[in-house]
Amino acid sequence: MTDDVKDYQNHYIGGEWVPSSGSDTLEVIDSATEQTIARVPSGTAADVDRAVAAAKDAFATWSTTPGDIRAKYLRDIGAALTGRFDDIVDVVSSEVGSPKTFAQMVQAGLSVGEWESFAGLIESYEWEEKVGNSLVVREPIGVVGAITPWNYPLYLIICKVTPALAAGCTVVLKPSEITPLNAYLLTEVIDEVGLPAGVFNMVIGTGPEVGARISSHPDVDMVSFTGSGRSGAEVQKGAAATAKRVGLELGGKSANIVLDDADPTAVAMGAVFGCMINSGQTCSALTRLLVPESRKDEYIDAVVAEASQIRLVDPKADEPDLFHSLGPLVSKAQQERVRNYINKGVEEGATLLLGGPEQPEDKPTGFYVKPTVFADVTPDMTIAQEEIFGPVLSIITYSDDDDAVAIANNSVYGLAGGVQSADQERAVAVARRIRTGQVDVNGGAFNPVAPFGGYKQSGNTRERGRWGLEEFLETKSIQLPA
Ligand code: NAD
Repeated sequence: MTDDVKDYQNHYIGGEWVPSSGSDTLEVIDSATEQTIARVPSGTAADVDRAVAAAKDAFATWSTTPGDIRAKYLRDIGAALTGRFDDIVDVVSSEVGSPKTFAQMVQAGLSVGEWESFAGLIESYEWEEKVGNSLVVREPIGVVGAITPWNYPLYLIICKVTPALAAGCTVVLKPSEITPLNAYLLTEVIDEVGLPAGVFNMVIGTGPEVGARISSHPDVDMVSFTGSGRSGAEVQKGAAATAKRVGLELGGKSANIVLDDADPTAVAMGAVFGCMINSGQTCSALTRLLVPESRKDEYIDAVVAEASQIRLVDPKADEPDLFHSLGPLVSKAQQERVRNYINKGVEEGATLLLGGPEQPEDKPTGFYVKPTVFADVTPDMTIAQEEIFGPVLSIITYSDDDDAVAIANNSVYGLAGGVQSADQERAVAVARRIRTGQVDVNGGAFNPVAPFGGYKQSGNTRERGRWGLEEFLETKSIQLPA
């Protein structure tokens, strides 16, 4: 352990930094150096109870605070967070391992943009409408428990906290215990801006302790969860007795269909980056590449040539090439998990074209995994079915468009997908047949105000934009006399 380990001792409850009621701590590890960089409290159910009580108290006032005042708070938070842009980049590069350029553009860039977006949205949102003799009004659901993962840690917190606050809800946040430092940064900003006490609260701790108490707490009206299906199921079980709303954003195993008229060179970069983005630790990563049997060699050669250009980099270094720079994975456990999947791919008979499970020679320290490409993957193999969450691309061949769609839909997941074709209309027609919450056609860019979420075991909710706001609203009908 180095001398400059930062010690965090507090949660944020009722507008104050308060010590944990327990004495256990958790360590935060830098994924490139493998050194401990901070210690944080491992919160308890009692800490959650205090935070929920504060959020419940604050709800009466915050939910009736006029929208323009709520919008002003959101803008103030967004501005203050923008002022901490470099700190966000630094923290996320250390905790997650995202290379600096990626952390700037995506991890920090998306995080600061949401506040203005939701401020503007609530200023124009139609909160009520007449339906026959009824006045139908939208109201905030109440106290929201937000439980979040480590891969885009700040952005995924903000995708819940910003619309919840915009809607008039109060919040108890439990960030990932693996990457809690960015959440401290956000909370410092919220504290400085002076959001009324209790409107936003944060308890740091593990899923089975803090997350479980949030899920089952009778005064939490909704849990908004992003993470694995396994933890999501625990949240649902915990929430069942109180019939609270549970919004789930879960994993994926998304297919990128290359139709037989697509130019191999044109699709290669998007195919590789779409899979390896954030070292493959992206829920919507396009991890299955579906290529036509008739032209498979051309596509495989182009993809391997593209993936061969990727370099494993120090997250703190100035590496401007966003598309060819990968950082380490988040943790030792994640590195092990991904290596196991690579070994499994080889055991089950897939052809390893690039990469492999060994520690990269040029990166003896850090949780790095080499960019890995498999061909001859069949749809039933483990590496074609399970979410690996690492830089591993599985190439599968298909016979015709119907076969491609069938393979794409042969998954318990339904989060994302891609279709590549020289003929956009043909691509959109195929996109409509994929049972997922989003599909990118010919490299169509991620849109932060379009709805995002999954079909099937990828979840049951939509975040972002108007749909993201509405997740946190109840609907009331007031019947009026004729
Ligand atoms: P995880 O499920 O291990 O943890 C997510 C959060 O749940 C953490 O805060 C954790 O402490 C908490 N948790 C764990 N057990 C819990 C329990 N019993 N009760 C309540 N909370 C509990 O997931 P992760 O490893 O942090 O993140 C990776 C997963 O998240 C992947 O499956 C990925 O696909 C998914 N993900 C989905 C989206 C999306 O928008 N659909 C976005 C990012 C990540």
